[in-house]
Formats: sequence, structure tokens, C-alpha cells
Amino acid sequence: MKITFLGAAGVVTGSSYLLEAGGLRMLVDCGLFQGDKDLTRKNYEEFPFDARKIDLLLLTHAHIDHCGLLPKLAAKGFKGRVYTTSATIDLAMAILEDSANIQEQDTKKENERRMRIGLEPRSPLYTKDDVKTLKPLFSSVEWNTELKISKSVKARFRRAGHILGASSIEVFADGKKIVFSGDLGQFGAPIIKDPEIIDDADYVLIESTYGNMLHEKADREEILLKHILETYEKGGKLMIPCFAIERTQEILYTMSNLIKAKKCPKQPVFLDSPLAIKATGVFKKHKECYNEKAMKVADIFNFSQLKPTQDVKESMKINSYDDPCIIMAGDGMCTGGRIRHHFKHGIWNKKNTVLFVGYQAEGTLGRHILEGENPIRMMGMEFVVKADIRKITSFSAHADSEGLMRWARSFPKKAKFFIIHGENDSQAALKANLEKEGYSCKIPMIGDSVTL
Ligand SMILES: [Zn+2]
Repeated sequence: MKITFLGAAGVVTGSSYLLEAGGLRMLVDCGLFQGDKDLTRKNYEEFPFDARKIDLLLLTHAHIDHCGLLPKLAAKGFKGRVYTTSATIDLAMAILEDSANIQEQDTKKENERRMRIGLEPRSPLYTKDDVKTLKPLFSSVEWNTELKISKSVKARFRRAGHILGASSIEVFADGKKIVFSGDLGQFGAPIIKDPEIIDDADYVLIESTYGNMLHEKADREEILLKHILETYEKGGKLMIPCFAIERTQEILYTMSNLIKAKKCPKQPVFLDSPLAIKATGVFKKHKECYNEKAMKVADIFNFSQLKPTQDVKESMKINSYDDPCIIMAGDGMCTGGRIRHHFKHGIWNKKNTVLFVGYQAEGTLGRHILEGENPIRMMGMEFVVKADIRKITSFSAHADSEGLMRWARSFPKKAKFFIIHGENDSQAALKANLEKEGYSCKIPMIGDSVTL
């Protein structure tokens, strides 16, 4: 058995691992690199393997940094099955269709610029047609059910509690068991079931996004309400950069609870993201992922103040809305999407608040704002930041350092850990915590291969 770390090793994004075992070449995830130019350039490089010679792919979940290069893989000749849960297939298709659209539009703009300065045009990373080529390759799997890949290779998907459909994956081959944590969620998340505890492995790849941090323990509803009320009293807009999947639905569910309890002032809540609107539809379809509490609520995302804005004209109308309101728009790290337009119209206004509800990767606009950069540069212009900048960490879809250890310590001491999917400090902190409890750990870098 041999593993090669192709992404999310030493960095957070671009999750992808090549596992060679039982005579098969398997990929686990095929994600997009996000963040600064050095990283995003990798998306355009050739794969370090022949896509036609990959037998199958196991997909942990639908986040773009885990599935975002699947259409490129299909375009390069991959013809194997992509095994994942049914909810992940629906979310991945929604997100990849959206991503292909963005790729095509961005490339058109970029090529106009390149032509002006005499450079050759370049092709989009992938197109909507590549996403169509990928679609029939998906095969759905059930959680906790053995997936027979070949005579000697089996896999089993377990709930990771991270986003709808997300899984950790156990692979059994060559007399060994290797576990891919995928992204691990928090215990007690609002909508979906908790991460499952797995009690045996020879090798574990564990994510470390928040390996050095504890989420605030305060009640999610109360903190969100505090920011809603404070901005309302200033007469401003509460702008929430939202990840279209999970975070949006968790915030909607929490707002719906606050409104039903009559704690929220009457003001419109604009859901200004076609992808988030689509993803909310996928959430409604996949109730098998809900926890007991969410299961009991009839329509968890519906309340009268909610205004989904599908088309651009409706979105632009929000700019001229002068009364207090809440705007949820993508993307979550402000690297693109409609949130930038709302910033353009309001980040310079001290009446407004920007509320971050999720992880901001290094190099992203969201991270710059959160770290106090002022003025900021976006859309080729400079903007002074006068809006209040706030963050809530308790909505995170990722386990914190305590949650990671709770999941990790169920493995026997013989298990060898590879710490992935984290920035340097968080990887080092998780390594120290695991070693304190007697586990052996390695922090691999991109391109490393290890024979197991
Ligand atoms: Zn994720």
C-alpha cells in the first residue's frame, strides 16, 4: 500500500490523495486549490498522474476544495466510478455546475485582458460540458455499508458531521486499514448528525483546520441574535459572507428559530446567492442526514422575512434598500461572488456590520478584512473599511482542537497519524496533542509518497 499526498498537505485546500493498494490506483478527493496565486496556479498544472489510469475515486464531501477538480479529471480521460453519498452527489453537481459557469465567465474576462496586452488566450479550467461528462460517473453509497471495490479492496463511508452528506472513509486493502477523516464537523451541529467515532485503523489521515483553536462555547442562537440586534439598532445592514452549503442553511435554521421565538426585529433577510438557494433545496431533499431535533421541524428553512434573490436585477435592488436588513451572500471567503458588490456599496459605511461565520483561508479577501487590512482592494478599486467587522466561530463546520482529539483518541495507539489539511501552526498543535497521548504522527508535504 502506498499513499501520495497530492494536495491539502502543508496547506488547507486542494485535498487529494493517491492510494495504490490491492492492484488499484484510487484517488481520495480531487479538490481545488484556493487562496493566493501560488496555490491557485496549481489548479492549471497537469495532474501528476495519468487520469486515464486512475481506477476509481472516493469522495469525502462536496466542498469545492475536495471535489473542485473532478470535471478536469473527467476531461483528462478518467472513466472510473466516483463513489460517494447521495447527498454529496446532489451538492457536488450543484457546486460544480456553478463553478464551471464562473470559470467560463472569468476566463472570458481574463482573455479580453490578455488580448489587450498581446498574450495568448487561455482555456477555462473546465467547462459545463466537462461537468456533464462527469455526472454519469457518480455512484451513490450508503453510510456504514461495505463497498466491495474489488476482491481484495473494500471501503466503508462513515458520517463526518461536517456538511450534508460528508463522510470519513475507511479503506481495507493489503491486510491493512487506512482511514481518511475527510473534514470533521462539530459534535452537536444544528442540522446534521454528529461525526461517527471509528475505533480501529493502522493509518489515519486527519484534518487539522482548527488543530490549534477552540470554538467559542456560547450559544449560537444568542451570539447571532446579539449581532442582528446591534446592527439593527445602528440602522445598518448586516452583511454575512456565506458558504452556500451548510453554513447558509444553519444560519437560516437559526434565524427561523429566532423569528419563531419573536426575538428578531422585523427586517428582510436577503438570501443573495443562486447556489445557496439551490443547495437549500438539496438540504430539503436529504432529510436522512438530519439529526433528531431537525427531523422534528416541518420546514426548517422557511420564514416570512426570507427573500431569496435569484437573478442579478433583484440582487442589485438590495443596494438601494435603505432600511436595516440582513444580507447573506457568497462566497464565504469573499474571493468572488455577490458579497463583493454588497461590500462595494456598504463596507465603507459605519452603520453596517460584516459578520464572518466561517473559516477564512490565508490569502483570501475575507482573511485580509478579518486581520484588519484597511483600506482593502477589490474589483480594481480601493475601499476604506468603516463597517464593524465581527466573527462567530461556533457555526464552524469544522471540529475544533478538542473535537479533533475526541475523534482521534478512539483509535488504538498502534494507529499512525498523518496530519493534513491545516496551516503550519494548527498542524503542529494537533501533532503535539496526539504525541502527548502516545500516537506517532507525521506532517506530510505535497508530493510526498509513503509506503505503508
Ligand atoms: Zn469541507
